[in-house]
Amino acid sequence: MIGNRNTYFCCMHVQYLIIGQGISGTWLSYYLQKEKKSFLVIDNNNKNASSRLAAGIINPVTGRRHVEVWRAKEILPFAWNAYNQFGKELGITAISQKNIIDFFPTPQMRQSFIQRVEEYDAYVQISKNEKEYTELFNYDFGFGTIKPVYTAHLESLLPAWRQQLKENNHLLEEEFEINQLQTKKDGIQYKTITAGKIIFCDGNNSSGNPYFQQLPFAPNKGEVLLAEIPGLPNHHIYKKGIIMSPLAIPDLWWVGSNYSWEFDNENPTAEFRNKTEQMLKDWLKIPFTIKEHLSGIRPATLERRPFVGIHPQHPGIGILNGMGTKGCSLAPFFAKQLVDNLLRNKPISPEASIERFAKILSRNIS
Ligand SMILES: Cc1cc2nc3c(=O)[nH]c(=O)nc-3n(C[C@H](O)[C@H](O)[C@H](O)COP(=O)(O)OP(=O)(O)OC[C@H]3O[C@@H](n4cnc5c(N)ncnc54)[C@H](O)[C@@H]3O)c2cc1C
Repeated sequence: MIGNRNTYFCCMHVQYLIIGQGISGTWLSYYLQKEKKSFLVIDNNNKNASSRLAAGIINPVTGRRHVEVWRAKEILPFAWNAYNQFGKELGITAISQKNIIDFFPTPQMRQSFIQRVEEYDAYVQISKNEKEYTELFNYDFGFGTIKPVYTAHLESLLPAWRQQLKENNHLLEEEFEINQLQTKKDGIQYKTITAGKIIFCDGNNSSGNPYFQQLPFAPNKGEVLLAEIPGLPNHHIYKKGIIMSPLAIPDLWWVGSNYSWEFDNENPTAEFRNKTEQMLKDWLKIPFTIKEHLSGIRPATLERRPFVGIHPQHPGIGILNGMGTKGCSLAPFFAKQLVDNLLRNKPISPEASIERFAKILSRNIS
């Protein structure tokens, strides 16, 4: 079967070759398919890829002060509609709304939250019955609610789309080797495959790509525990320093995460596991069992904005990357922008376009 598939891809020509089927490559291939363009995705199915670890949370606020996330009013409704439509086409639930119950870890955090409510921030609410969760959790300083918060169900969406790609011969499951890539006058050649353009959606791997390594990537490691918690109501996400978010499997919860800028490898650490397990013991009043401990690298960037567009020196090479901690909301929005740019010459938002790095990207590549 593998032999037959590889024969099928031999000497193939496509308009777009996409590297990576994380959330970025998924949305890019989806929009190209909608436009009836020919494309092929190469993906090595890395189980530790950021998209395979993400909780999928799309939160309208960020940081200790709960400030509105970048371009929330455009990007969040876009994501909600796009995931709903995609899910409908695949026959799955691709997104749902689960608001965050935010338990205040300190009196100062409570005060800061109340201040946001008083400033009339539509995304935050203080609860009328702060005793509501006393049977399930230990908490001393009350809680607030953050809404609307969405969960993109990547654990359903990525495999469902992968299956369609496979069935339509749009997926080559193997390692992409950058040293086999050649640029041509009218596109690129990769082994026996030719394409009008190659678009890198390969997450953190792009930080070592000779065409894009000058971009200010700032890879960030994150770890997660998967815990079985029977009896915890799954219609909300719970937060108290760490986040607990319900997964599709009954009683299974995503618990995380941390943000490490300095790390030697992408392996899970005993330090995270011990600390997080202790936090859960202190917080939860009901029993739990740790089932798995995973870790991976977020493709984050120094100025916390994505990298989208075509290389200024190489018209056959492009990128959709740098999604950082917010790939679930940013990927559909910027995949659509990239496709509109490629097909209709519409501009990419200047804060996301790699045009902003035209000078450094024009230096000779090593
Ligand atoms: C612990 C954790 C929790 C997170 N939680 C959230 C969250 O709740 N909400 C949110 O919005 N974001 C979250 N994120 C961030 C989010 O995961 C990323 O922004 C997003 O997944 C990046 O997607 P991507 O497709 O650009 O890259 P990736 O997910 O890294 O995908 C890259 C793809 O390329 C493939 N690939 C790479 N190199 C090669 C190669 N050489 N050959 C072939 N294939 C290759 C990989 O297998 C993978 O499929 C979280 C990240 C982590 C680590």
